[in-house]
Amino acid sequence: MQRAKAKDFIRQIVAEDVRRGVFGGRVVTRFPPEPNGYLHIGHAKAIHLNFSIAREFDGRCHLRMDDTNPVTEEPEFIEAIKRDVKWLGYDWGKHFYHASDYFEQMYRFAEELITKGKAYVCELPPEVWKEYRGVPEKPGRESPFRNRPPAESLDLFRRMRAGEFPDGAMVLRAKIDMSSPNLHMRDPVLYRILHAEHPHTGKKWCIYPTYDFAHCLEDSIEGITHSLCTLEFEVHRPVYDWILDQLGIHHPKQIEFARLNLSYTVMSKRLLTRLVNEGKVNGWDDPRLPTLAGLRRRGVPPEAIRNFCDMIGVTRVDSLTDVALLEHAIRDYLNRHAPRAMAVINPLRLVIENYPEKDEETFQAVNNPEDPSAGTRPVPFCRELFIERDDFRIEPPPKYHRLAPGREVRLRYACLVTCTGFDRDPETGEVTTVYCRYDPRSRGGSAPDGRKVKGTIHWVSARHAVPAVFKLYDRLFTVADPADRAKEEGRDITEFLNPHSLRVARGFVEPSLSSAAPLSRWQFERLGYFCADPDSGPRALIFNRTVTLRDSWSRLEKKLAASRDT
Ligand code: ATP
Ligand code: MG
Repeated sequence: MQRAKAKDFIRQIVAEDVRRGVFGGRVVTRFPPEPNGYLHIGHAKAIHLNFSIAREFDGRCHLRMDDTNPVTEEPEFIEAIKRDVKWLGYDWGKHFYHASDYFEQMYRFAEELITKGKAYVCELPPEVWKEYRGVPEKPGRESPFRNRPPAESLDLFRRMRAGEFPDGAMVLRAKIDMSSPNLHMRDPVLYRILHAEHPHTGKKWCIYPTYDFAHCLEDSIEGITHSLCTLEFEVHRPVYDWILDQLGIHHPKQIEFARLNLSYTVMSKRLLTRLVNEGKVNGWDDPRLPTLAGLRRRGVPPEAIRNFCDMIGVTRVDSLTDVALLEHAIRDYLNRHAPRAMAVINPLRLVIENYPEKDEETFQAVNNPEDPSAGTRPVPFCRELFIERDDFRIEPPPKYHRLAPGREVRLRYACLVTCTGFDRDPETGEVTTVYCRYDPRSRGGSAPDGRKVKGTIHWVSARHAVPAVFKLYDRLFTVADPADRAKEEGRDITEFLNPHSLRVARGFVEPSLSSAAPLSRWQFERLGYFCADPDSGPRALIFNRTVTLRDSWSRLEKKLAASRDT
């Protein structure tokens, strides 16, 4: 596995600050999600970055609910966020905060700006304001309320807080620069009226700070030293700088990095919320979603997500990361850690004619060839087995090394069998049973006379098999960049949903899996990595396919390496 060896540009800046004693050599970072949805793998990039940097520099990382917008925020999301950050392997200790805890302090800062003549209450309706603000190429026009006396603004602002005015009647604006080419600097809104109950502060407030005002204050109040955020906040940085400088309070260093975009999925919370609310997926933890809850349910180990974050690194270049790289990181981890087992997803009956009806025996199967300490387990064997329907062909195509009339294959860990015949459903023509004879000298699976047997197939003893449901997931969208495509082509994003993103199959697993714990992860030989669903139990075993075994990323890398060598 490749690891980021060189320090990324953020770590270089932080290291230099520590060396020079900026912020007294301290490092305090934070992860500030808005609790209006579940966390996704893009958030994992930010979480991993912030918490790892804090750890590497003996600092700390805060978990802060950026709950300044009361309308879309819910306690369910707050609990989910905590669960997911913990699951990823990070601990905020006692540093769990709510931005709404600072509302009183923010309000006082706003009054201070008014008193200093740096903010004013503006009564222009939003549409009119848009015209006043203008376009970047030309200076905007000043609001007629811009130069009202501070005492008048202060009075109005206090009455805004007291609930005297309806939603939208007026706002508090910073008095910055109406001719700045950066529109965010043209007297941005600091406070708006919103008669809405807040999940954390209840009915206490009917005015709420805007993101631009609140965010820099939250960081300042908490003594954040390095405020790491995604590139779209770069244009807001001058606003933050201005506010903190006017107030003369602690001024964190903001550093922007590119957000993670992943192919064949969407990462915006607005779109994810739509998929969930419109029932296009089964809730926030649907294994097809890029949410951390979905990835967990799918069987993705948190270690694989952290390794993936190390692989992609941190830069300032916007890009679309191939989901095959994430799958590669998942396989790489599971290959080393997931115990092997045998399961048959699409069963076909196989009868061994020369194996006595009443007999049965067990063979020892290797639990993990990558980890000898994982040992072996007994798997039962008898006259009737299930094999994968795909592993038998009446007329085998070229290079098909599996079972066919007259052909010999190895039953993994058990013995060699030669196909003697098959039954078909007279109506559908479907093969219903395959008949074989086994070579009693091949017990354990090795050819007694050293003869070549190319194919090895997996199986489950019919007498001992446990029924199981397999959920086979594929990409949620049919195109790599569904959000962009929908925008460009003026279509709805749901038109790009993959109708085959979930296939349900009913088959069997070996008996050792009858007690598979919810969320336990397995490699089903020759089929892929699977995870027992949280709803799986003794009465109904359900396995979610995490990934198949085919690593398209490794193949791509090998191809590239080969083309470099020639
Ligand atoms: P959305 O734009 O979908 O609403 P958001 O960025 O508003 O997402 P927040 O809850 O505000 O979501 O995000 C919390 C933190 O996670 C922010 O600091 C943000 O920069 C970071 N973040 C969000 N999405 C990504 C991403 N795709 N890659 C990296 N960091 C991200
Ligand atoms: Mg945000």
